[in-house]
Amino acid sequence: MSKTVLIVEDEQAIADSIAYALRTDGFVPRHVMLGEQALAALRPTPGEAAQMPVLVVLDVGLPDMSGLEVCRRLRQFSEVPVIFLTARSDEIDRIVGLEIGADDYVTKPFSPRELVARIRVILRRAGVAQAPRETGMTIAALAGAPARFELRALEAKVIFHGQPLDLTRYEYLLLKTLLEHPGHVLSRAQLMERVWSGAPDTLERTVDAHVKSLRAKLRAIDAQVDPIHTHRGLGYSLAGA
Ligand code: CA
Repeated sequence: MSKTVLIVEDEQAIADSIAYALRTDGFVPRHVMLGEQALAALRPTPGEAAQMPVLVVLDVGLPDMSGLEVCRRLRQFSEVPVIFLTARSDEIDRIVGLEIGADDYVTKPFSPRELVARIRVILRRAGVAQAPRETGMTIAALAGAPARFELRALEAKVIFHGQPLDLTRYEYLLLKTLLEHPGHVLSRAQLMERVWSGAPDTLERTVDAHVKSLRAKLRAIDAQVDPIHTHRGLGYSLAGA
């Protein structure tokens, strides 16, 4: 498996410090300064799979286009995990609210070692999603889980009413957690701990934003019922079968 991590950052000193921390940890850093270069580097090229980046560290403020735009375009052809670097707290709302498929973000100034630790967490999670698909092992039947849902943990997929849901990583982890505890009320703090573990800057409104986007995706398939219940002041639960 490739150990290449793509750094998209126009400030050389920041890129150098990230590259150093990555190299120290056994990764192979690759650095570009522009959004267009990042998209070019991430397009699948036959025969170059071994060098394809396994993760992207993406600065929001780039000279040619915003990192958010880079991510939006990237998601049209790639599911590679993305960690945003952001200098401004108001950008965080856009990262978590826009549902552009980011996996995590860190605010500048940050510790490169902390960033690499988060990269490890994300790659570990992604590793589960990339596990080989073996017949008979892909479908995890969850006792008591609502029958209209089917969790395929090894594929990191949830089927709802027979249709695969197109979920971001965190939407998937959120729904998976709710599915594993049908009927149980999980507080925002519990969901943050289980879903966003290793992302210490997670805010309670991050949970709400993801519940909102998840509901919209479920509603697109079945507008009649809302399987996710809000318990005011307590948290969320998934309705039983
Ligand atoms: Ca910048």
